[in-house]
Formats: sequence, C-alpha cells, structure tokens
Amino acid sequence: MSRRIIHIALVGNPNSGKTSLFNSLTGMNQRVGNFPGVTVDKKTGVTPISDTITGNIIDLPGTYSLYPKRLDEWVSYRVLLNQDKEIKADIFVVVVDASNLKRNLLFCSQIIDLKKPVVVVLSMADLAKKKGIQVNIPELERELGVPVVAVNARKGKGVTQLKKAIEQTASNLYKIPARDFIENKLLAAAPIEELRSVIHEASDYSAIHYLINHEEFSLDQVTQDTIENIERKHNFNHTKTQAKEILQRYGRIKHIMNVAVTEPDPLEQKIFTDKLDNVLLHRRWGYLILLVVLFVLFQSVFWLAQYPMTWIEMFFSTASSWLLKVLPVGWFSDLVVNGVVAGLSGIMVFVPQIMILFGLITLLEDSGYMARISFLTDRLMRTVGLNGKSVMPLISGFACAVPAIMSARNIENRKERLLTILVTPLMSCSARLPVFTILIGLVIPNKYLLGFFSIQALVMMGLYLLGLFMALIVSYVAKWFIKIKERSFFILELPTYRTPRLKNVGQAMVNKARIFVTDAGRIIMVISLVLWALSSFGPTKKMASVTSRYESLILQHPTQKDSLETEWSAEKLKNSYAGILGKSIEPAIEPLGYDWRIGIALITSFAAREVFVGTMATLYSVGENDEGLLLRDKLHAAKKKDGTRLFTLATGISLMLFYLFAMQCMSTLAVVKRETKSWKWPVIQFVYMTAIAYVMSLIAYQLLK
Ligand code: GDP
Ligand code: MG
Repeated sequence: MSRRIIHIALVGNPNSGKTSLFNSLTGMNQRVGNFPGVTVDKKTGVTPISDTITGNIIDLPGTYSLYPKRLDEWVSYRVLLNQDKEIKADIFVVVVDASNLKRNLLFCSQIIDLKKPVVVVLSMADLAKKKGIQVNIPELERELGVPVVAVNARKGKGVTQLKKAIEQTASNLYKIPARDFIENKLLAAAPIEELRSVIHEASDYSAIHYLINHEEFSLDQVTQDTIENIERKHNFNHTKTQAKEILQRYGRIKHIMNVAVTEPDPLEQKIFTDKLDNVLLHRRWGYLILLVVLFVLFQSVFWLAQYPMTWIEMFFSTASSWLLKVLPVGWFSDLVVNGVVAGLSGIMVFVPQIMILFGLITLLEDSGYMARISFLTDRLMRTVGLNGKSVMPLISGFACAVPAIMSARNIENRKERLLTILVTPLMSCSARLPVFTILIGLVIPNKYLLGFFSIQALVMMGLYLLGLFMALIVSYVAKWFIKIKERSFFILELPTYRTPRLKNVGQAMVNKARIFVTDAGRIIMVISLVLWALSSFGPTKKMASVTSRYESLILQHPTQKDSLETEWSAEKLKNSYAGILGKSIEPAIEPLGYDWRIGIALITSFAAREVFVGTMATLYSVGENDEGLLLRDKLHAAKKKDGTRLFTLATGISLMLFYLFAMQCMSTLAVVKRETKSWKWPVIQFVYMTAIAYVMSLIAYQLLK
C-alpha cells in the first residue's frame, strides 16, 4: 500500500518549544540544511502519522507575529503565505507556549485567519502549571475553532494525540473554521474585496498581507501592478490597518484568557525564578557570579578538550606512522600522510572544543541563565556595537575562535552578529599559547617584579588583555562602517529557570560537530592540501639536487642517518615553494625584525598558529624528540645576515604582537565563510587583522630595537 506524504510545518514564537517537538517527533530521522540567505539551520525530518500517512516535517524559524522583521522571520512568513518557491506545507502545527499564552496566541490567531489547516500544540504545560496557570483545552478549542493538543515534548507525552489530530485534519475531519478570529474584512473592506477577486485563494486576512507585502511575493508583473493599483485606488494605509488588527486581536485574546484560562493572583506568582534572580541579577553578586560562570566555562573548554584532543592527535600520528610503513616511499605516501591525514587531523582536533562549548552553551540556555548573561552585559557590549549575546563567543574565543564563531549564531541581530564574528579571532586563542611560550622564554627575562610578580607571566597576561582590548576597539570602529540596518531588541522578558535536558545538550553537541566537519572541514582540507603542496614541492632541479645530496650522504654515513634526515627536511623546506615565498617576503618583514626563516614560519602557520614551533624546529634541524630545550638554544643562537642576534627583545615582542593580531588560521576563515555564507567577510577579516598585526609589530620593533 502506498503511503500518503503530507508536509507539516512547525511554526510558533521563538522558544515556544518547536525544536523540542521536532526532535521528539523525528528522533534521529532528521537532516540539517540551510535556508537560502539566512543563517538559521533548516531542520527537516520524517515521522509516521498513521498507518497510511507519513509526515514530512520542517522546523521553521521562530516568529513573533505575521509581520516579519528579521530575515529568518521572512522565511516562515513566506511559507505561511504560500509564497516560498521550495517549501510548501499542507498543515501548520502552531506551537503555543502555555506559560505565555497571551503573546503566543497573537501569532496563532493570525495563522488561523490565513485559513490554512492548523493544529495547535500547547507546550510548556508543566511550566504553566508551576506558575499556577490552568488552561481549559476544550474551551480554547471552541474559541479558536481548531484542534488543540497539549504536548510535553521533553517527556514525549501527547505525541500520539497530536498525530491523531494531524491525521484528522489531513483527512478533512476537522474543517477550517468558517468564522474569522476577528472581523478582518472590516479592517479594509473595499481593497480586500477587490484583491480577492484577483487572487482567489486569498482569505480576507491574507488579502491584507498581499496588499502590504506583495512586492516580496512571487507574483507575475501583471498581478503586481494590479495589486499596486488596488492599493492606490483605495488609499490603503498599512500602518493603520495593522494597528487596528493587533488591537482587535488582543481584545479577543483577552476574552479568551477570561473564559478558557485561570491565572493565579499576580502576588502568588513570585516563584522560584524571582527569588533566584534576586541573587543572580544582583547589582554586585550578579556580576561576580557571572565572572565565575564565564571563567569556569572558559576553563572547561580549554582544559577538558585537551584530553580528547591529545587522543585525536595520537590516533592520527599512529595512523601516520603506520601508513608510512605500509605505503611505498615517495610523493604519494607524503601526500597521504602529510597532506590528507594531516588535514583530517587538523579538522578533527577542533571537534572536542566544539562539542564541549556547545554542550555547555546548551546547558546555560536550557537552564535560562544564558538570557541573564546577555541581560547583565548588554549595556557594556552595546557601547562598542556588540550585544549581550556576544559575551559567549568572545570568552570562548580565548580557547578557540572556531567554535566561538559558530556560537555567534545565537545573536539575532545581523550587524551585531557580524561584528562579533569579525573581532572574535582577536581574542588570544590556545593555539597562540605555544608560540607565546617559546618566544617569552626566549626574550623575556625570568625575573620577578617586587619579588612576587613573574615578568614572563605578566607579559603573557598583557598579551591576552591586549587581544581583548583590540577586539573591543575594532568593533567600536567597525560599527560605523557596516551598513546593516536592523533594529535590535532588548530582552524585556527573562525566561523562567528550568532543569536543562541532557538530550538537548547531546543533540546540540552532535549537530554542531557535524556541521563543522562537513561544511568548514571541506575548506580546511583544501587549504591544507595547498599548504602541503607548497612546502613539499619546489623548483624541480633544486629539489632533485637536495635529494641526491642527502641520499648519498646517508649512504656514506649510515650511523648519522637520523640527524642527516632532520637536516634534509630543513633543506627541503628551504627550497620548497613555501621556502621561496618566505624568502621573497623578507624585504616586507625586515622592518618588523624578521628574517626569511620567520617568513617561512609565518606562511606555514596559516595551517594553525602553533605550527610556528614545528617549522622553526625543522628549519633549525631540531629532531622531533628534543624540540623543547634544544630548539630554544638554537633559536637563542640564531643570527641575522648581518651577524646580530635574531631573537632580540624587539624581534620577540614584535613577533608576539604579530601572532596576537594576524589572521593566521585557515580553520577560522573557513568557519567565517560558512557562517556568513560569503568569502567577503573572511577576506575583510584577513586583510584588516594582518594590517593591524603589521603596523603594531612595526611600531614595536622600531621603538624597541
Ligand atoms: P524553539 O525556539 O521554539 O525551537 O524552542 P525549543 O524547542 O528550543 O525550546 C525552548 C526551551 O524550552 C528549551 O530549553 C527546551 O528544553 C524547553 N522546553 C521545550 N518544551 C518544554 C516543555 O514542555 N516544558 C518545559 N519545562 N520546557 C520545555
Ligand atoms: Mg528552534
């Protein structure tokens, strides 16, 4: 028997519980994609509705009313008005937060008046109950004229009844209500009537939307002109009609609240949340607790991730040595090991940080504390053009910019989100740490100030603060250049505290990791292959002579095979295209105090900043096992062409500043591309960060030398 497929769209206010319902309906049968042009994830999935019907479900972006403001609200809007070219829905499931009925019913009533098949899901019944709110469902059903089902998506309660209601709606057992929620026709009788004679499938209410928004609809030019004429002929006034509509809707909703809902005395409503907020939003304690929470969060991402990251690196290095053993020696095994496997490992090492950060963020969001973080920091962040929600990405940026930039997705305002993405990589991430460590050890004396403050530690801290400071400055400046006009709303209503759900946490972790590996991973792979090619190939003649020289040297002195091989790698790198590139940028970086070897390291560091250490070790022929002390001694003794010391205080500081400010991370660029959906922003970011790095290093070197 062939099954009938119906398309079901989940709509509702943000945070009404759509995604939870979606997850509980589709379980593991879901796919995450992209809505064209906006950056919210497009989740689709299937679920059996009955023996004969399969439901194709889509989780649409949350919307407060049928008057869209943000781009993602437009997505939902177009689907609801049947104007989306790809997404069509047979049935709309409107998720309504029972603990916030008044506001949620506004959107719900608008959808009902579109005269589409609708099933209402009442979510958050448990919260409503805690608040002392009781909803009389049969009465609510009578008032709305559509089926209402209470569902607890977290416990999977009510899902069967919901499917039943969907099935009955699909088979026309529930009729679309004849009566409008409000008298839409009376809002603008003449233009509505005329429009409906042109567009037959419009209801009185959707006619109003055609009049207001037809420019955004996919209609042919003749129809567009006709609507334009109707508007003009009747002097149709958008704003007035809208205002009247909303007022009337709230009037009727008030009535419904009276007959179908019992609310407790407002005095009794001072529940757990308020008491907790007395502490967590306290003028002093609130900020102290916030600092502690952020510190713990940062530490967890930083420290917890280290273990799985080490395992991943160990796994890939074991795999590499095994592959080297089984594959025939030659460029192919080099490609597999140093190109492909290294690229894969470069992608996978980010996964622990991404998963841990998003696990923690989901915990904070689920519990309701995240909104408080925004609330507490909003004023401060706003002065530099950011938003309370930028705090999380910025702090996470101290661990790694990649997951941090992905977490900026929570910022609804496009301009603030973009600014956050642009400045997050200035936060000093953990990949800079090995570079700073070796440079500080090299040029900063191991002395104590006042016998107590280690100068080396102070320099390290100074670098971290400098990164943060620069991020705020850049954002303050850039906010004048980015021309995106979008109103940003301050959160007036804070959600109630809830127990976080582990399943949500797990899902967020898996989803984010998957998005990163598939989307950003591809770009990272391509760039690492390019970098591999640059550092393993060079002009044929030169490379061949290096090869033959060392092959014969090893034959002559088999006892010194190891040290000869290390030297060989150094020669290979020097003569490769990357080496040539490093040498050719020498004139440009000489004013910063660098020589060509540092130039090569700057280029290879693009794979990841910590590669600096490995490249230096290769160039100075330090074997893998004694990278630490020996490398430091060799760097210490390194000389410039004119015979002076290479790593003076001036060069060291200049180089630290360069690594602090420059955009030397292909993974970050890949993620920015994925998050902004264009190469424009990664390019701008690369240019502005490198420019700052160059200027700051130049100033530092010229002043100190
Ligand atoms: P969406 O924005 O509409 O997709 O809403 P989500 O599904 O992301 O839910 C928002 C928050 O409400 C999440 O923290 C959910 O865990 C939580 N939530 C969802 N359904 C329920 C429910 O029935 N009861 C309670 N107490 N919380 C819920
Ligand atoms: Mg959602």
